[in-house]
Amino acid sequence: MIISLEQARREIGVRQRFAEERNLGEFAPYVSDIIYSSASPRTTKGTILMPAESSKRAGSFYYIPGGKSKLWVYASTFNHDNIQTESDFDSVFVDHECFHAKQNFRAVPNPISAAFDYTKENSFLELIMHNLIQGDKVDILNRKTEIEAYQHQLAKIESGERDVSRGLEEEIRLDLDYYINLPKEANLRFLELIDGVIR
Ligand SMILES: [Zn+2]
Repeated sequence: MIISLEQARREIGVRQRFAEERNLGEFAPYVSDIIYSSASPRTTKGTILMPAESSKRAGSFYYIPGGKSKLWVYASTFNHDNIQTESDFDSVFVDHECFHAKQNFRAVPNPISAAFDYTKENSFLELIMHNLIQGDKVDILNRKTEIEAYQHQLAKIESGERDVSRGLEEEIRLDLDYYINLPKEANLRFLELIDGVIR
C-alpha cells in the first residue's frame, strides 16, 4: 500500500518509506540516497524554513561534477504548517531539493562563481567582512543556487504542474525575495557595522 502524507505525519515509522516512494522524475539519476532523520536540519537560517536538504556528501564537491546527492528529510518537514498535502511535500522535496541534486551533479553554479558575482554587485572587502563577521556566508555563497531552485519550484506551480497550498506558495515567494535582496541587506548590515566601529 502507498503511504499517504497524513499517515506519515502520524507515524514516524513510515516516514522513510513515504519519502522513498516519492516520484523524483527527471531528478532520480542525481540522487543516491534518501534519509529520514529525526534530528534538526543542519542549516538554521533565520527566515528560511525549507525543512529538507540535499547534500553533496555522497562524494562530490561543488567543483567536481558527476556526484550524486543524498537527500535528507526531517521531522520538521512532517510537522510543517505549510506542508499539508503530498503535492506540498513534493514541491519542497522534488521541485526544490532534487533540483539542488541536479545542480550538485552538474556543479553549476558553484560558490566561487557566486562569490565572484557578489563582488561585482558589491565589493570584495564587503564579501570578506560579511563572511567573517556576519557568519552567514552560506547564504551568500548559496544565493545563486537557491534563487534557481526557488524559481524552479515556482515555475512548477505557475504552470499548474504542482498544485500547492497558498501558505506554501507564499513561503516560497518570501524565501526567493530573501535571496534576491541578500546583497542589499548584507550591505546595510555592513554599513551599520562600520558605523559602529567609527563612532
Ligand atoms: Zn534550497
